[in-house]
Formats: sequence, C-alpha cells, structure tokens
Amino acid sequence: MLNFTVGPVMSSDTVRSIGAEQVPYFRTPEFSDVMFENERLIKQFAKAEANARVCFMTGSGTASMEAAVINVFTDKDKVLVIDGGSFGHRFVEILEIHEIPHTIIKPEFGCGVSSAQLSEYDNKGYTGFLVNLDETSVGVLYDIKNISDFCKRNDIFLVVDSISSFLCDPFDMKALGVQVMITGSQKALACPPGISLIVLSEKAVDRVYNNKPRTMYLDLKLALKNGERGQTPFTPAVGILRQINQRLKEIESAGGVDAEVKRIGGLATYFRDKIKECGLPLKIVSQSLPNAVTPLTPTNGMSAYDIFTTLKEKYGIWICPNGGDLKDKVFRVGHIGALTFKDFDTLITALKDMFKQ
Ligand SMILES: *Cc1c(COP(=O)(O)O)cnc(C)c1O
Repeated sequence: MLNFTVGPVMSSDTVRSIGAEQVPYFRTPEFSDVMFENERLIKQFAKAEANARVCFMTGSGTASMEAAVINVFTDKDKVLVIDGGSFGHRFVEILEIHEIPHTIIKPEFGCGVSSAQLSEYDNKGYTGFLVNLDETSVGVLYDIKNISDFCKRNDIFLVVDSISSFLCDPFDMKALGVQVMITGSQKALACPPGISLIVLSEKAVDRVYNNKPRTMYLDLKLALKNGERGQTPFTPAVGILRQINQRLKEIESAGGVDAEVKRIGGLATYFRDKIKECGLPLKIVSQSLPNAVTPLTPTNGMSAYDIFTTLKEKYGIWICPNGGDLKDKVFRVGHIGALTFKDFDTLITALKDMFKQ
C-alpha cells in the first residue's frame, strides 16, 4: 500500500510497532510522564507561550473543533468564520448548533482572504475569529499573518484549526497571538486517527475556566484539571497517545518542527515540479498552496474520481478524492506521513502510465 491521502496517512515502522503492543493500564506515573512529554513537545512545536496548556481529546479533529468553539465562545460573542470549503463549513455548522452569533467570510474557490477583504470587518464589534489555516478540502493555505494582524488590531480572540497545517507550514502561536490551536493524530502527526488536541494560551485557559458549556465529555475544564497530573478525565486512546509520543520524539531528534516543515515542503515542491517536467495533463487549482497537499484537476477530460479509482485498483496507490460538486473535477495528493522522494517517483510513474492508456 502506498498512501498519498491527507489522512489517515502512512506511519513510521517504529510508530506501527507500538500499535502491535498490548495497551497498558494508564492511571500510572509512567503514563503521566508520557503525557507530560507529549504536552511539552506539542507546545514546543506549536511555538506556544510558556504557560500554554494542551488538552488531549479522544475523538477525531472535529471533536476538538467543537470543544474549542463551545469552551471559548458563548452566545455573547460575535464570531467571524472563514467558510472556504468543507472544514470551514463545519465550523459554521458548529456555531449554528450552539447558537453563537457569527458572520461568514466566503473566499473565492481556490483563493485565500486578502487583508483588504478583512479590513471590511474592522471596528465592527467582532470578538472571535475561526479559521482552518489549511482548508484541506480545497488545498488553500490562508495568510495567517494577515489574519493575525487583523485580530490584533481589533482585539479579537483567534482560534486556528491547524489540523492539516501543524508540522507542515511555518506557525508561531505566540508571535501570531493565536489563542487556540487545534490538530489531530492522523494528519502530519502520522499516527492512527482517534486523538485530537487543543493548545490553549494562558488567556484561553482563563476563558475556559470562566465558561460553562453544556457538555460533559467536551468540557475542557476537566481536561485541564486532569492534565495537571498528566492524566485525562476519561479513558483516552492510550495506544495512540503512546504512538504520538514516539513520533514527537522522532521529530525532535531529526531537528524539530522547522526541519519537519522543510522536509514536507521539499516533498511538495518535488512532486509539483515533476508534474510540470513530465507534462502530465494536470493543473494545480489552488492560488495559495499549503505544504500538506496539492489539489489537481485533470485537463484531458478524465474524471478526477476515475483517476482515484484506477490508481487504487490497478496500481495499489491511494490519492484523495474530493466529494460533492468537485468529485469529478478535483483530486488531491498529500505530502504528509512516512513518504519519501522515491514514493513520489512511484506515483509519477503510475500517473504517466495511466495517462498513456
Ligand atoms: C482532517 C481535518 C479535520 C478533522 O477531521 P476529522 O475527520 O474529524 O478528524 C478538520 N479540519 C481540517 C482542516 C482537516 O484537515
């Protein structure tokens, strides 16, 4: 199997071998140490402030998206949300379900949001901002510096879904004034799905302790309190947390987050250059590419979904199909997970061969 989707992705052999072990009991000092180390390394890689905290949630990324929204916002807030694809739309749905007042910013397909667009919302009483830094569904990376500047000058509480951009694109939580950052286990962390996590600034921690969301499982007060002793309020996905620990230590010993961003960026550039070099009938559809993924549209009339099916069935290669209106138009190639330059050569060879037929 060769997997170029955007999650779950391929894991290293060491991470996989932990998956084969028995899952240990977790109310122990040994497991607390694993959790303390996970918190320390996540904070380090997010470039979070010293007093930031991390909540580890057992649930996919969406669980942490919903937890973040309902723990830091209330019906007294007025939130701006970028709805540039299916993940942005998920934030909108969460805001609707929880009756949090909001305004939607809808970028054009394949485009980011300019500072001119943002300045239309200056001095209008907004209190919160939600963005999926890499809108993975269409492969658009928003300009976080613009968003950060806008939020700083309007004193807006900034929540960033970095689920597919963490470890892929440069990010400095403290310098950008990001109050909440979310990521998940099955993207660039390259572990099985099941854990997502929320990094909270000191200001965000305060907000959580002063808020009363109508939820038990997603109440971050419980997660924060238990986290003080390296524990979680409920049985977590213990095995995946141990795999995350292994992966974080591997990233650290390979040079840390900057080296990992560079490695993934290098794979993305290599693949994009190869497509052009080989004259493949594929066009990149994003005007603002993230390192994690390349969204492509076939220019020879072939259906994007048929390309996905053919690669899977004839070549044993997985790419990522799109859904809805984009099903036949767009597919995506991920650059995250345990992938090498050689793997991208294999994909290019398969694409060449497929287009020849
Ligand atoms: C993958 C992803 C999610 C989370 O999806 P889950 O299926 O709930 O893990 C959320 N936001 C973005 C930007 C993503 O790429």
